[in-house]
Amino acid sequence: MKHASIPLFIPHLACKNDCIFCNQKRIAGTVVPPSDPYGFFTSALKNIHKDFTKTDLAFFGGSFTGLEEKDMIFYLDAAARVKKENPSVTGIRLSTRPDYISEKILNTLAMYGVSTIELGAQSMNDDVLKRSNRNHSSADTEKAALMIKNHGFELVLQFMPGLPGDTDETILITAEKIARLKPDAVRIYPCVVIKDTALEDEYFAGNFTPLSTKHAVELCANMVLLFERHNINIIRIGLHSSDLMKNQSVVAGPFHPAFGELVFQRIFYLNALKLISLDPPKENTVLYVAPGNTSKMTGRKKENLILLQKTFKVSFSVKECPSLKKYDIKRGPR
Ligand code: SF4
Repeated sequence: MKHASIPLFIPHLACKNDCIFCNQKRIAGTVVPPSDPYGFFTSALKNIHKDFTKTDLAFFGGSFTGLEEKDMIFYLDAAARVKKENPSVTGIRLSTRPDYISEKILNTLAMYGVSTIELGAQSMNDDVLKRSNRNHSSADTEKAALMIKNHGFELVLQFMPGLPGDTDETILITAEKIARLKPDAVRIYPCVVIKDTALEDEYFAGNFTPLSTKHAVELCANMVLLFERHNINIIRIGLHSSDLMKNQSVVAGPFHPAFGELVFQRIFYLNALKLISLDPPKENTVLYVAPGNTSKMTGRKKENLILLQKTFKVSFSVKECPSLKKYDIKRGPR
C-alpha cells in the first residue's frame, strides 16, 4: 500500500528559538504559510496519484505546538475537516520540540485526530545540545517521548549527528539512547552548514568542522543497523534535495542528493567484504543479492565492485536471487 504525505510548512512561525544550525525559512522554501490550510490540503489531495491509497496531512518546519493555541487550533481544525471528508486521509502528523509538549497540548492534538508526532531530539548529549543552542535537555526529550507514547500517538524522533561537540562516541550513544525510547520511526539528518545560520559563522571562524560525507555515511550505516535490530523504521536519512539546496544554501557538510543510497551501498559493501574475506576468491566471482538490491551492492559508479576488485584482485559482478532477503549476500563462481 503506497503512502503519501502532504506537507504544509510553518517556517519559524512557532519557534522562539534560534538553534545554531537552523534557517527554517530557507529549508522550508517559503516564509508565509498558506492562509487557507483547508483549501491548501484539499487542492493538494487532488494531485495525489491514485496509486497512493493512504495520505497523511503534515505540519512541518518550525515547532507546531509552539504556536499560539488559537493558531494551532486553526490549522488542526482545517486538517481534521479535510480528513473527515476524505477517507484516503489516514493521518495527521506534525513536528515540534521536546519542550513544547505537555499534557494539555497532547489532549488538544488528540481531540483533532493527530496521529503522529515527530520530535526534534537532535542529540541526547546535553553538552552538544547546549553548544547547538537548543535550549532543551536530553531529559526533556525522554519525558516528551514517554508522554507521547502514553497518549497513544505514533512517535518519530529526528536527530542530527555531527553537531558541534559531537564525536563518534556521542553520536553512537545518542543513537542507542534514541533506540531505547522505542520510537516507531526515526529520521537521521547529518548536520550540514546552511547559509545564514550561526553555524555558518562558526564554520568560517574555524570553530566547527562538519562530518565529511564519507564519515557521515559510515556512522549512518552503523546507526541503520542499530535501529533495524530494534525494529525501528527509518523514514529518512539525509536532507531532501530541494531546489534551495541546489541553490547553494548548503555551505559545507555531508549533503548528498542520494545520501540514503550511499548508506545502504556502504552496508552492502561491508557485508560483502566480511563474507569474501572469510575465503578470498581466486577467480572472478558473482555476488548474489535479494531482488531489487543490485544497485546497492554494485554501488554508484560501480564503487563497491571497484573497491572489492582492488582488494581481492579478481573481478566481481552482481546477480539477483529470489530466495535471498534484505542484506543477504551469497557468492558463486562466474
Ligand atoms: S527549534 Fe526547530 S524551528 Fe526552532 S530554531 Fe530550532 S531547529 Fe529551528
